[in-house]
Amino acid sequence: MGSTFVDSVVALIVRTSTDLPPDVRAAMKAAMAAEAAGTQSAQALSIIAQNIDQAADCEGAICQDTGMPTFEVKTPVGANQIVMKQQIRDAVAEATRLGKLRPNSVDSITGENSGSNLGPGTPIIHFEQWDRDDIEVKLILKGGGCENMNAQYSVPAELPGLGRADRNLEGVRKCILHAVWNAQGKGCAPGAVGVCIGGDRTSGYVHAKEQLFRTLDDVNPDARLAELEASIMGEVNKLGIGAMGFGGRTSLIGCKVGVLNRLPASFFVSVAYDCWAFRRLGVVIDARSGGIKSWLYREESTPVAAMADQAGFQRTGREVMLRTPLTEEQVRALKVGDIVLVSGKMNTGRDAVHAHLTKHEPPIDLRGSVLYHCGPVVVKEANGWRVTAAGPTTSIREEPYQADIIRRYGVRAVIGKGGMGAKTLAALKDSGAVYLNAIGGAAQFYARAIDRVEGVSLMEFGTPEAMWHLEVTDFPAIVTMDAHGNSLHKDVEEASAKELAGMA
Ligand code: SF4
Repeated sequence: MGSTFVDSVVALIVRTSTDLPPDVRAAMKAAMAAEAAGTQSAQALSIIAQNIDQAADCEGAICQDTGMPTFEVKTPVGANQIVMKQQIRDAVAEATRLGKLRPNSVDSITGENSGSNLGPGTPIIHFEQWDRDDIEVKLILKGGGCENMNAQYSVPAELPGLGRADRNLEGVRKCILHAVWNAQGKGCAPGAVGVCIGGDRTSGYVHAKEQLFRTLDDVNPDARLAELEASIMGEVNKLGIGAMGFGGRTSLIGCKVGVLNRLPASFFVSVAYDCWAFRRLGVVIDARSGGIKSWLYREESTPVAAMADQAGFQRTGREVMLRTPLTEEQVRALKVGDIVLVSGKMNTGRDAVHAHLTKHEPPIDLRGSVLYHCGPVVVKEANGWRVTAAGPTTSIREEPYQADIIRRYGVRAVIGKGGMGAKTLAALKDSGAVYLNAIGGAAQFYARAIDRVEGVSLMEFGTPEAMWHLEVTDFPAIVTMDAHGNSLHKDVEEASAKELAGMA
């Protein structure tokens, strides 16, 4: 089957990265319908819907974080899994070369990016034999922001707000609610959770992630688990976390629970949190030819309906127009809830840049600048670099560095997602700076606000971690932490904690 099999897996990767499956689209449509018009959550969902359409139209990555490729492969007896594993790795390298996967595999000690998504442990490939003649390949692309929101509980446990979680289904219910509450908007809510009751610490997480291969609308064949899933979905949205943690009516679009036997001494509840960019697809492949026989999770004959009923950012007339460099006066005039449209120069910076700036001078003058927490997908073309996907990354990772960088270098605005903590909030107030929340995962939408790449510094950190110097026009974001000590994230977390306590 040779190169045809590689081509089939490349096709699977490209479609998974760029086109959300119908069940996820339906759940996101329901979330849009449920949200009150004009709210920040509604704005976020509208941008997400446009982003989903744009990604499918241009075959671009839905989110710039194309995550950890995880393959579940079923093979007929006698199939050569050694060859197949190498072919899947070849397909991953090819999809990365095509810009459909961001280079995401880094050496855990040196931080060096392999550039191909290949390396020890990446991609993840699980094989299983079955008694059919075809090969089934399922793929999930789960990004780092939501992966960091996974949680594992060893019960009995005392859970803040919920009291004791015992070794029974009621205890499991509390663990799931706590995990969703704890994620807030950091995993790009509304999310979906796969859960495993039991197993050991390792198998529990694997089985929890496997639950994400179930469709959102299926019904668990185990009546006890079906009831648990339904009860979680019935109450979790009362938490009021909403899209991106802005506060709103939909915090979760799916809950799928599996169970494994455990040791008598252990009782783990493992929760795999996936974001709204829930990229999961599969194919059935002819074992002789290597060609795709059919797709899983989608009917090829059914046309994909558009998610958004309007294009472009829907202006209300109340947006604040900001042009860089920003002044202290401009920034101090902003308050939580304001929607801003940023134009001018913007610099990206994620983990490596932040760590670097605590010990070295910045490569450019950052006074009055906007620092964007983003690891873009960038392709080199004849006349320079072009950004093809550029949504925000989770900001809280930069909490240990951010306050120092704002104070030392005069950064006036930080753009990211999920909000930041008390240290950064204090620095915003002292220095006159703001935190702007962009819509997590909206990689195509934001790529269209970038006019050009003016340059790049610190390229030795690899493409996602380098500092990209961008020129943008009308880049929309919401002020969620202002220079007066206010934080929408803190408010939503406190309000949802009260709701959580009512579910004890
Ligand atoms: S949508 Fe958010 S959590 Fe999901 S992969 Fe993208 S950045 Fe990460």
